Amino acid sequence: MKPAKAVLGGYGTTVFEVMSALAREHRAINLGQGFPDGNGPDDVRRRAAEALEDSPNQYPPMMGVPELRQAVAAHNRRFYGLDIDWQREVMVTSGATEALAACLLGLIEPGDEVVMIEPLYDSYLPIVRRGGGIPKLVRVEPPDWRLPRAALEAAFSPRTKLLLMNSPMNPSAKVFDRDELEFIADLVERYDAYAVCDEVYEHLVFDGRKHVPLMTLPGMRGRCARIGSAGKTFSLTGWKVGYVTAAPEVLQPIAKAHQFLTFTTPPNLQHAVAYGLAKDDSYFTGLATAMQASRDRLRNGLERIGFKTLDCAGTYFITADIRSVGFNGNDVDFCHHMTVEAGVTAVPVSAFYQAADVTQFVRFAFCKDDAVLDDAIARLARHFARG
Ligand code: PMP
Ligand code: GLN
Repeated sequence: MKPAKAVLGGYGTTVFEVMSALAREHRAINLGQGFPDGNGPDDVRRRAAEALEDSPNQYPPMMGVPELRQAVAAHNRRFYGLDIDWQREVMVTSGATEALAACLLGLIEPGDEVVMIEPLYDSYLPIVRRGGGIPKLVRVEPPDWRLPRAALEAAFSPRTKLLLMNSPMNPSAKVFDRDELEFIADLVERYDAYAVCDEVYEHLVFDGRKHVPLMTLPGMRGRCARIGSAGKTFSLTGWKVGYVTAAPEVLQPIAKAHQFLTFTTPPNLQHAVAYGLAKDDSYFTGLATAMQASRDRLRNGLERIGFKTLDCAGTYFITADIRSVGFNGNDVDFCHHMTVEAGVTAVPVSAFYQAADVTQFVRFAFCKDDAVLDDAIARLARHFARG
């Protein structure tokens, strides 16, 4: 038979699945894959259960149920002052993962150049390649994840179709500031490109920072596709409800891809997310406050053991330097060692770089209950405690 292996088949199993399987095998505490411990807000879950009974369960409209599209538009206005036409500028997807695929497959023509900033979330590069895009990679690197402006500028060319960016950024926990966004916006405009903005962690920013969507910068409203995820905003990662906001001319080709990918998303979950997006501001600030407390709990615990941790401005994740606890192998070995010997799992940061050459750092997820974080810290302390 002809080999089945094509662009996507050539990739190994994603690092999140690999590390979660290893954690299960060794009964380790899983601080690898980013999913919260809890079961999401009770009222949002209850709304989903009610909608299962009181709303239709047949195919909803391809663009999403009107209530959710209206809620996404209202959320864009409330938090970012964006004036969005819910009928022409919002589309519901099956998670941000599908939103990303629809944006990339919908906008990229074979041969188009796509600028991306490493470290990269796992699905970006395979889908860009499957779409025939030519990746132009720029890197931010630990420990400070500074934007290399000259390299970014050099990555743009007249063949640049789009920039794919992620802020707040997984796994670096970097939140792009206005000055960086202005620099990026200038390049996108100068090269007449689009920007696909993965903003799934939009409500998970810490220490009084504010998330700024690239779409809110001058000149960017008509060039950006902004992606959100109920998985992150409501701590319900298994639901896979995402949403794309973009000007009508940008959204149209994205919707063409969506209609052939999933076409729709379970309607009861859409109704529940519409309900959730309308919750008081206190829900959203409470989410960030609680997650910041979890970050502090894990960071302080790691630092007490001797881990040097990097600045964490947002997301579910904090990066730690494995040299600081005297480990001389690479990050993949370390994650394996820590799972088997200490009973705690993390994710190697090298998995987010094409060249897999950043080998000294691991990513811990802190979106967990206090007791789980405390148990993980206790296990690590027993294993690594100095002298
Ligand atoms: N983008 C980033 C940066 C992520 O970390 C994730 C995973 N949580 C996703 C997209 C995918 O989100 P979803 O689960 O909504 O598909
Ligand atoms: N976004 C999650 C993470 O970065 C995992 C998502 C997945 O497993 N595909 O850990």
